[in-house]
Amino acid sequence: MKLAAVIGDPISHSKSPKVHGHWLSRYGINGAYVPLHVTADDLGQTLDLLPRLGFRGCNVTLPHKEAVFARADQVTDRAARMGAANTLTFRDGQILADNTDSLGFLSNLRAGSEWTADTPVVVLGAGGAARGVLDALTQAGVPEIRLSNRTRAKADALAELFPNVVVAEWLPDLSGAGLVVNTTALGMAGQPPLEVDLTALSADAVVTDIVYTPLETPLLAAARGRGLTTVDGLGMLLHQAVPGFAAWFGQTPQVDDALRAAVLE
Ligand code: NAP
Repeated sequence: MKLAAVIGDPISHSKSPKVHGHWLSRYGINGAYVPLHVTADDLGQTLDLLPRLGFRGCNVTLPHKEAVFARADQVTDRAARMGAANTLTFRDGQILADNTDSLGFLSNLRAGSEWTADTPVVVLGAGGAARGVLDALTQAGVPEIRLSNRTRAKADALAELFPNVVVAEWLPDLSGAGLVVNTTALGMAGQPPLEVDLTALSADAVVTDIVYTPLETPLLAAARGRGLTTVDGLGMLLHQAVPGFAAWFGQTPQVDDALRAAVLE
């Protein structure tokens, strides 16, 4: 049986077992994907033991993404740019580390819209997830990214890492932006909505949110109300899982409506 896991602390909230479980059954693979609650103290031993127990790899969630990156024997370029990993493959006694968050963001955006990378982008939020989004947009060739965060110092720090990022005021003017991305926690269930004025956006602008609980955040509802194309955040989670599944289970899986439905159950 082919085995893989997701490790984190906490772990019970993770939707990854549903994603991989759906694909395992759809492709008729004799495999299992299990959530493992792993504390920082147990991380080193866990990474030693998992390959010895027959695991082919694992996903990694908070708070271990930087620690596993530091322990890896080989890292992909995109993981190196992040200094963090979310996908490990165990092969020939080595740990190979990848970071698929930026790929997940971009694949979701492209699957859900006609977005092209030739106009300025506004990114709201400068937390952990924003870094992957900025990397994805930079790699896609976006000419200018306006980064806006409540705590400006965090946006300033990220702007040092990306030459095409300029820091904008919190809740910026959106004139000229072809894409608006919310990477803040605002709009998530239990959080206040993100209230940014969308009136300056042109009719072909795209608005996306990486928050996916609820699927349609107040920001996306407001954008849809203005007739703009919107892309919800669930697909980012689904697309980021593709490279790991392919590496561990030998089948490149499809992200489609059946997977979305299975994860939302
Ligand atoms: P994080 O590192 O804690 O960053 C939180 C961000 O939200 C910061 O920019 C923070 O601004 C901002 N924020 C929080 N409360 C705010 C408020 N009341 N007013 C203004 N700004 C506020 O979190 P993260 O890891 O980046 O995650 C952010 C969101 O993305 C979460 O909802 C998470 O579930 C979601 N996410 C989705 C995916 C996916 O696959 N779709 C992947 C990763 C994360 P300050 O810097 O000013 O505090």
